[in-house]
Amino acid sequence: MLKVDRLSVAYGAVTAVREVSIEVPAGSIVALVGANGAGKSSLLSAISGLVPYTGTVTYNGQPLPKQSHQVVAKGLVHVPEGRRIFSNLTVYENLLAGAYTRWDMTRIKQDLARVYKLFPVLEQRRSQYAGTLSGGERQMLAIGRALMSRPQMLLVDEPSLGLSPLLASQVLGLIREVNTQGVTILLVDQNARKSLQIADYAYVLQQGRIVKEGDACQLLNDPAVQEAYLGGHKVSC
Ligand code: ATP
Repeated sequence: MLKVDRLSVAYGAVTAVREVSIEVPAGSIVALVGANGAGKSSLLSAISGLVPYTGTVTYNGQPLPKQSHQVVAKGLVHVPEGRRIFSNLTVYENLLAGAYTRWDMTRIKQDLARVYKLFPVLEQRRSQYAGTLSGGERQMLAIGRALMSRPQMLLVDEPSLGLSPLLASQVLGLIREVNTQGVTILLVDQNARKSLQIADYAYVLQQGRIVKEGDACQLLNDPAVQEAYLGGHKVSC
């Protein structure tokens, strides 16, 4: 579905992503794992058209446009970390903003009902200003807003940042749920253990390069990955 070939991102003299090639098959969850500054968010932002890059990105066999609004129009939607919602709009207004590319009110209402079913707390809080939501609720709103555009694929950036372990598990569980409803996911999360547990396949990034890749379960059981990214804990899937 998504194929990235030798993508590089540079910010002036700093090269954040170096000739990275990854693939995300339709229907899967693929995780990017790596330390702070490894280039994970830059890779997502490049695919989404938010930062310039060199290399090629193909989506459903066609070159992916490099402008963010054109990328969204292809059904590929970036879910920014939850602090980047519209704080001075209500939950409902934020969700409607996610459907800005569409005009069909009947289907928009159906999608709203679907988002409220997945995240009942958003329905309870629909008239509340988004800026007053808790961290977990904001993440749910960021994902819900992206779902309002009927995406084929979500690029999810740090959904569990700043959340308690319990909420982090809950949010990542909801991402799995979104995936089972047919949405392909490329996921970056600082919680490597949980993201590998919900992913099908993963890539390990180090200083802008892919240094390892494989079945998510196989990487969870890899002693070098456990040592570097899972706090030395043995985890099985
Ligand atoms: P984290 O998990 O800490 O968010 P990351 O793996 O997502 O890290 P990036 O945020 O992509 O990594 O950053 C990769 C490198 O690029 C870092 O060295 C960072 O300082 C640098 N960088 C990121 N954004 C910019 C920018 N706008 N201008 C200059 N350098 C940047």
